[in-house]
Amino acid sequence: MKRVLSFLALLVTLSSLTYAKIIETDHFEELCSYVAEDTLIILDIDDTLLIPTQMLGCDEWFLHQLKKHQNAGMNYTQALEKGLAEWEAIRHLTKMKIVEPGTEKIIAALQKQNCCIIGLTTQGLALATRTSKQLKEHHIDLTITAPSKEDVFFQSQGHGLLFRNGILFTSATNKGEALFKLCEKIGYSPKRIIFINDKETHVKELEMVAEKKQVECVGLRYAYADAHKAAFRPEVAEYQFSHSSFDKILSDEEALAKIVTP
Ligand SMILES: [Mg+2]
Repeated sequence: MKRVLSFLALLVTLSSLTYAKIIETDHFEELCSYVAEDTLIILDIDDTLLIPTQMLGCDEWFLHQLKKHQNAGMNYTQALEKGLAEWEAIRHLTKMKIVEPGTEKIIAALQKQNCCIIGLTTQGLALATRTSKQLKEHHIDLTITAPSKEDVFFQSQGHGLLFRNGILFTSATNKGEALFKLCEKIGYSPKRIIFINDKETHVKELEMVAEKKQVECVGLRYAYADAHKAAFRPEVAEYQFSHSSFDKILSDEEALAKIVTP
């Protein structure tokens, strides 16, 4: 009996593994080896496709601001609201660069093969138009093989979510819940999904919901921007934040030169 039970436990473990995997991925092109028929490819945006050209405006800076506001006495919600407002303001002004050169060509090649691709981001509605434009500047157009060309707006966890230009703007709500709610709204049932994201927590979030829905999910934890993120220096971003203007954000080199020789 004990043997039968452990065999059953093994079967359960194996079947759950069929639905969820997290794979450490150094290069974007590795994604192609997991694409099969009827696969929905889901792309994170920040630190996966695009990254600001300087330290100001990056994810690390946002987290730094959040902690700073909390240390100044704000509760988490107040600090989050202030941090998000600052982050969004900078994201409207900053130039972005592609995280890994060549990513745009890989996306275009997958779209040529008619692979279904969408973007999935923590960003809120305020950045929808700006982010689509920044992606297009880098030759990424996620509308081409998106499962819906129409704008879709819905609410989740008290926040407004928007699917526009092939990107789902989740307003920092659960990405898995958001994705499957969108699929329900547009009448689309992916049989298999691949999600590439630099944050393991976000990959897990989607995998958990996919597993509940019994949709096979391959989660790729994308490591390409790790070194760039580790090189973040809060004092450089602080200097850029307080000395830049609407017309010009100081580069890392300009800010560093001022910090070293004020
Ligand atoms: Mg990201």
